[in-house]
Amino acid sequence: MRPDPSGPPGERAGPDYPQARARMVATQLRARGIRDERVLEALAAVPRHAFVDPALAPEAYSDRPLPIGHGQTISQPYMVALMTEALRPEPGDRLLEVGTGSGYQAAVLSRLARSVFTIERIPALVERSREVLARLGITNVVQRVGDGSTGWHTHAPYQGILVAAGSPRIPPALFGQLAEGGRLVIPTGSRDAQVLRIVTRRGGSAVESESVACVFVPLIGEEGWRE
Ligand code: SAH
Repeated sequence: MRPDPSGPPGERAGPDYPQARARMVATQLRARGIRDERVLEALAAVPRHAFVDPALAPEAYSDRPLPIGHGQTISQPYMVALMTEALRPEPGDRLLEVGTGSGYQAAVLSRLARSVFTIERIPALVERSREVLARLGITNVVQRVGDGSTGWHTHAPYQGILVAAGSPRIPPALFGQLAEGGRLVIPTGSRDAQVLRIVTRRGGSAVESESVACVFVPLIGEEGWRE
């Protein structure tokens, strides 16, 4: 461990975060088959440690989800990369994320698209993530408190919609807010085990594929689970 050169003067020497992040990209992402260079660059750039409690910051680049309070988690880096790659964001895109949580996934997407709309049902998480994103100088993420299981109608259609919580089904409202050619990436299944599904809108109908098995916190809301 070397002192963190970006830390404020007088602060206790911390882990070398940039080095830990580079190692995470090599061993957890590239080695497991994440190929999209823009996605790898985004995960190499976003300081994941800024999105967790300072006490957990030394764990920020480990290969697992971490608690963010209120019974919620920041997803494992590999899952963030896999979902982002599946979304295939383009620089001009308008994206929707359901389940802002810590704001980390939104920060990653903000580097790959024109704008990111993100909705979260727990007000305290919206407040905290808003502060972190502002501190990092990220200005193309728009946040609100609400039930994202029915999407965010005002800014639709979206070229991509990423749902960061497990849903019992594909909410029709989310599919309805996809632009032609747009993609919905969503874990669906039971409350405690899901499969990542990728739904593309082609000529108004859904073309589906399945990716990996996964475990997300439940999507709570009108089109999700009951609290
Ligand atoms: N993308 C997040 C992961 C957060 S975990 C990150 O990078 O940290 C999933 C989040 O979805 C939780 O914060 C949970 O409160 C939120 N959530 C669950 N159901 C929701 C709903 N219907 N609408 C909006 N957010 C929801």
